[in-house]
Amino acid sequence: MNDLELDLAWLYPSLMSTYSDRGNIFVLVQRGRLRNIKINILPIETATAGSTLEKADFIFGGGSQDRQQEIVMRDLRKEKGKILKQLIDQNKVGLFTCGSPQLLGHYYEPAVGKRIDGLGIFDFTSVSPGLNTYRCIGNIIIEVTGIALDKGKSNYLVGFENHGGRTFLSHSVRPLGKVLKGFGNNGKDKTEGAVYKNAVATYLHGPILPKNPHLADYLLVLALENKYQKKIELKPIDDSLEWQAHWSVVKKILGQN
Ligand code: GLN
Repeated sequence: MNDLELDLAWLYPSLMSTYSDRGNIFVLVQRGRLRNIKINILPIETATAGSTLEKADFIFGGGSQDRQQEIVMRDLRKEKGKILKQLIDQNKVGLFTCGSPQLLGHYYEPAVGKRIDGLGIFDFTSVSPGLNTYRCIGNIIIEVTGIALDKGKSNYLVGFENHGGRTFLSHSVRPLGKVLKGFGNNGKDKTEGAVYKNAVATYLHGPILPKNPHLADYLLVLALENKYQKKIELKPIDDSLEWQAHWSVVKKILGQN
């Protein structure tokens, strides 16, 4: 029997799942299962009713190419964008990687074509400098400053980034962290990602959660505490392999353990 349950809305899996982003879903489900927490996956596609999204305790959105982002945005503009904004404002938990955050800011200017107006949930803008400039590609490591991870485990997040768009935060926005190696939001100001209420935006793919189990648990606890309105402590599980992966990437990128 499951003790606790979460409804996890997965935004547009058929349009926004680049660079193995679906691995994040597997991690959340499995880390839940090992603690008797049932995670119900609600795939949200263009044909899905907005009422399904309304049930979400936790929202995940992955990356995608500019073309797919346009299609997604057209659908979000109908009714789901408003619902998404309400959910985030109600402190529902969100993890948004790469392409999806670009749609949650004020706008995204793709490499080719017209500006795509975003939902304005995050106070930032994203602009691609066009096809003749380099993309921000490679392994990335950040030191986390925007959320309170279990520092006893690690205060790093590691991942892989591949984006043409550059994101610029307005002064009031809390970045997720500081870039130690890699490009991050724009390759210039060393900021990476953004945090608004319980929503986390980041350029880290890879996917992010398998290599960063502390982030997965942080988000699960937030979602459960928000839903059940009580303090939640997750049962420890054997995730030594995941931690080996995390530290071997840290070592590879930073040359330290
Ligand atoms: N289309 C966006 C960009 O190139 C996002 C890419 C991605 O999600 N990896 O910036």
